[in-house]
Amino acid sequence: MADYDYIIIGAGSAGCVLAERLSASGRHKVLVLEAGGRGRSPWIALPLGYGKTFFDPSVNWQYQSEPEEALAGRKGYWPRGKGVGGSGAINALVYARGLPRDFDDWAVAGATGWGWDRVRTTYEAMETQVSADGTRQGNGPMQVQDVSDQIHRANRHFFAAAKELGLPVTDNINGAQSEGAAAYQINTSGGRRMHSARAFLAPALKRRNVTLMTDARVERIVFQDRRATEVLLRHRGRSVTLRAGREIILSAGSVDSPRILQLSGIGPTETLQRFGITTLLNAPHVGGNLQDHLGINYYFRATEPTLNNVLSPFLGKLHAALQYALTRRGPLSLSVNQCGGYFRSEPDLVQPDQQLYFNPVTYSTSPAGKRSVVRPDPFAGFIISFQPSRPTSRGRIDIRADDPKAAPLIRPNSLATEEDRMQVIAGGQLCQKLMNTTALKQLVERAMAPDLYAMSPDDILADFRERCGTVFHPIGTCRMGADPATSAVCPRLKLHGMAGLRVVDASVFPNITSANTNAPTMMLAHRAADLILEDAV
Ligand SMILES: Cc1cc2nc3c(=O)[nH]c(=O)nc-3n(C[C@H](O)[C@H](O)[C@H](O)COP(=O)(O)OP(=O)(O)OC[C@H]3O[C@@H](n4cnc5c(N)ncnc54)[C@H](O)[C@@H]3O)c2cc1C
Repeated sequence: MADYDYIIIGAGSAGCVLAERLSASGRHKVLVLEAGGRGRSPWIALPLGYGKTFFDPSVNWQYQSEPEEALAGRKGYWPRGKGVGGSGAINALVYARGLPRDFDDWAVAGATGWGWDRVRTTYEAMETQVSADGTRQGNGPMQVQDVSDQIHRANRHFFAAAKELGLPVTDNINGAQSEGAAAYQINTSGGRRMHSARAFLAPALKRRNVTLMTDARVERIVFQDRRATEVLLRHRGRSVTLRAGREIILSAGSVDSPRILQLSGIGPTETLQRFGITTLLNAPHVGGNLQDHLGINYYFRATEPTLNNVLSPFLGKLHAALQYALTRRGPLSLSVNQCGGYFRSEPDLVQPDQQLYFNPVTYSTSPAGKRSVVRPDPFAGFIISFQPSRPTSRGRIDIRADDPKAAPLIRPNSLATEEDRMQVIAGGQLCQKLMNTTALKQLVERAMAPDLYAMSPDDILADFRERCGTVFHPIGTCRMGADPATSAVCPRLKLHGMAGLRVVDASVFPNITSANTNAPTMMLAHRAADLILEDAV
């Protein structure tokens, strides 16, 4: 006897969407297993609470990547959300669908049925876009808020700089013209985080056919006759086995989904053998194809007040807190990332190759626990930063022991291709061009070290190696594709070579999208639910 029809592993960005979609008809019993807690911290709901959850082990797995020679021997800090909402509960709330070509490239890479025209309809079904004047478009649960009326006025210099360079400016980064300088849209509603836990899981939990188990860490999936049938987990200190009647759906994210598969005997044979795990399926792509965005900040002291002047002094903080308490508006209701957008570093490129951020605030990202990441500096300052949009280097995430509690081995293989190194230089030079406009020069009192103005192309790359960091968008470690020789799951997201198991989260992206990955992950889960239900009849 099955305990549930569908067992979803992980209540993150994808898992919460799945739980709602799969339970909506009332015909299926759905269980969601989440290793972390309920995600009720007030710092999760508060948009600017980001800085508090960034180093908080109660809601954050706090992984680390291996030291990389290409990054001056440095390890990377990899926050991942732990608890209901997953990484969507601790992320910076930037809502970016990605560019149409990103998804057409998915289809070219073997993800048949995932081209732009198809996924656009899923985005439209999933979202309600709310403009600054409150006009609503769409009827989906995921509220996407235009906050262009609330961003700090210092941002006007960024828009002026883009215009001065003849670069596009857009009022809707998720609209028909997505390219150019933009105020980021964020997934909030009433000034509170609108992650998939709030938009999808919370209403689903009112149904009798949905069960959520927190503090339920899945250790392995059990297969019988090449079919996934059960999950083994630790729940509040006890070992529990649960059986799925229809399917097990792995939504533990790009770090943990490949890990759970490898611990279950699905992965590269050599890796499994090394740790004494019996290979059920030699699947070299489980853990491979890791892609991520790397980004870097350049800091400047400003000639006019910025958010630092609001958020650093005690009275400014008090004012912002009162404004938030009374109106649910103001700086605390916004992302740490206010403006930016998709840009071409050269006009003749076929699509934008850089994502920029322009933030009217300065802070230092310092080692875990030493300093809050968004404690603003006590002087006026701002940041410009870039991330190359479509890196071509490929890394891996693997187990490092036959032990569900052992931290994963994360090897990003950053900057391994010449193209990626050139993209870094192109991004740095684009920032230099913007900073050399009259519009932005008038905002600069002086560059804070290292000085972007003084950098040669070689300096840009050397500095990037010294200071860049992940922008927290790992994807691809269980990539989808039609060919089992080059992918882990098929375009219907079923594991190649085994029945009863799908992977539905950011790990199945064949290629990274050009911007932030949360919206594409939720879109993917929304469409995946349609595929699962189609197969259920
Ligand atoms: C600090 C940070 C900032 C970010 N900023 C942005 C942003 O501004 N905009 C944007 O679009 N994207 C952003 N991202 C990326 C985005 O949030 C992720 O791409 C997205 O949330 C991935 O969703 P997922 O469903 O694949 O995984 P997750 O949301 O990470 O969900 C995985 C879930 O599985 C659970 N889990 C793991 N292992 C187990 C297990 N063994 N048993 C049971 N449960 C398990 C985890 O606890 C987690 O809840 C950010 C990410 C981070 C970490």
